[in-house]
Amino acid sequence: MEILVCVKRVPNTGQTSVDSSGQLSSANAQHILNPYDEYAVEQALQIKDQIPDAKITIITMGSADSEEVIRSALSFGGDGAILLSDPAFENLDTFHTSLVLAKAVEKFGKADVVICGNKAIDADTWQIPPQLAAHLNWPQILFVKKVEAVSGESIKAQRTTDDGYDLVESQFPVLISVIKEIGEPRLPSLKGKMNAKKVQIETWDKAALGLGDEVAAEKSFVKMAKYDKLEKSIDGKVFEGEAPQVVEQFLKALEDDKVL
Ligand SMILES: Cc1cc2nc3c(=O)[nH]c(=O)nc-3n(C[C@H](O)[C@H](O)[C@H](O)COP(=O)(O)OP(=O)(O)OC[C@H]3O[C@@H](n4cnc5c(N)ncnc54)[C@H](O)[C@@H]3O)c2cc1C
Repeated sequence: MEILVCVKRVPNTGQTSVDSSGQLSSANAQHILNPYDEYAVEQALQIKDQIPDAKITIITMGSADSEEVIRSALSFGGDGAILLSDPAFENLDTFHTSLVLAKAVEKFGKADVVICGNKAIDADTWQIPPQLAAHLNWPQILFVKKVEAVSGESIKAQRTTDDGYDLVESQFPVLISVIKEIGEPRLPSLKGKMNAKKVQIETWDKAALGLGDEVAAEKSFVKMAKYDKLEKSIDGKVFEGEAPQVVEQFLKALEDDKVL
């Protein structure tokens, strides 16, 4: 069984800024493995716990600097890694990012399950997992909070809904995105850290993926026109005391603010 785990290198969002032209700058920010992708790796490892001969390959689209993040993902556990890197892949919209990832999944050829985090902390669009499944024409199970059963051919998973969850079963190949409820990521072991240093990272560029001029920032359907940063958060009010007094204070505050 072959599992591909999609991970993204993201800036520490507390260290980003908006420059004078209204564009987001992360040049001076420390970059990390998208925290939600630790759960994607954890999910892959939970499947491997049940199917020990499962192989896990980490995949990311990003700059050459992504190696550190790939090795950080591998330190949790993993057998291989692929970096999708090309100047043409810079500043793509989600449609083209997911297209590049889909071409890589097709080139890899043998994936049974692709696992994504549910969102990346920088752009936070949540669009990549469903778009990737759509480009591949694969079934998708999003917002998975628990994989109930997995065999060599199919997966049964709890997909989170507003009211609880749906139990969904899919044959392979399938794409899933996972949320934090799948369980806290295990800590990297010493063996995992040693292994992470040794794994050979394959690098595929635009040509290797059989892509042409259709993939370029200027071909993106969506362009980020301007960012705005909230300068100040809204001050909250804390009401203290016994419940009846707190309710009284709360109602008075609503009246004072002309909400009631
Ligand atoms: C603030 C901001 C807003 C943006 N808004 C839009 C928009 O509305 N529409 C649009 O088309 N583009 C938008 N972009 C561009 C968008 O950031 C990129 O297309 C980005 O590569 C993917 O989007 P995401 O980070 O939102 O991923 P998400 O969809 O939030 O990520 C979900 C999961 O997909 C996987 N994944 C995401 N990116 C990668 C990657 N590079 N390699 C491997 N796996 C990955 C990870 O498993 C991740 O957990 C925006 C960019 C910024 C900075």
